[in-house]
Amino acid sequence: MNIILFGPPGAGKGTQAKLLIKKYDIVQISTGDMLRDCVSNNTEIGKQVKIIMEKGELVSDEIIISLISERIVKKDCANGFILDGFPRTIAQAESLDKMFSEKRILIDHVLEIHVDFDLLLGRIEKRAIENLEARKDDNSNVLAKRLTVYKDQTLPVLKYYKEMDKLKRINGMLEIDNVFKEILKVVETE
Ligand code: AMP
Repeated sequence: MNIILFGPPGAGKGTQAKLLIKKYDIVQISTGDMLRDCVSNNTEIGKQVKIIMEKGELVSDEIIISLISERIVKKDCANGFILDGFPRTIAQAESLDKMFSEKRILIDHVLEIHVDFDLLLGRIEKRAIENLEARKDDNSNVLAKRLTVYKDQTLPVLKYYKEMDKLKRINGMLEIDNVFKEILKVVETE
């Protein structure tokens, strides 16, 4: 099962991805995690993206697409994967379509965890307080920037999948378990 999972920062996308990979024995491909690994290992890419990530801006499509194209051919993806945090721009979505049609990979579900933007800040602040090792990009200023970037760059990508009649919206304002149940309803019935 191959899934694309959308949701703004703080929507609980990572949490739901973890529940899905456990249930379906598939892998989570998080471009954010891959980039954070590059930064902590101080790789060439890591050096290039560190500041951009700390500011809450988007890393170049070129870097992201090359990371994904190397990742997607790894053996552990054969049973299925969740794309978490990718594609985030129309250019990335178009590259993904091209890459997948060349590799004959099909996307089974495109899900949007939909949340009220105004409530997100509160959630993120809570996460920052609970987690002593809060992500550098989880403070309120950067979150506001990440939300703006999501609205400007990623909402058009949702529209792109909606126009193809692929997008399914999940209510992300529910408790974690109930959000997961809503996701299962979609993936098990279609
Ligand atoms: P995330 O963990 O998905 O919220 O990603 C953290 C940060 O990594 C983002 O704020 C961006 O700076 C960068 N990033 C992750 N995925 C992408 C992507 N698909 N395109 C561009 N930048 C990305």
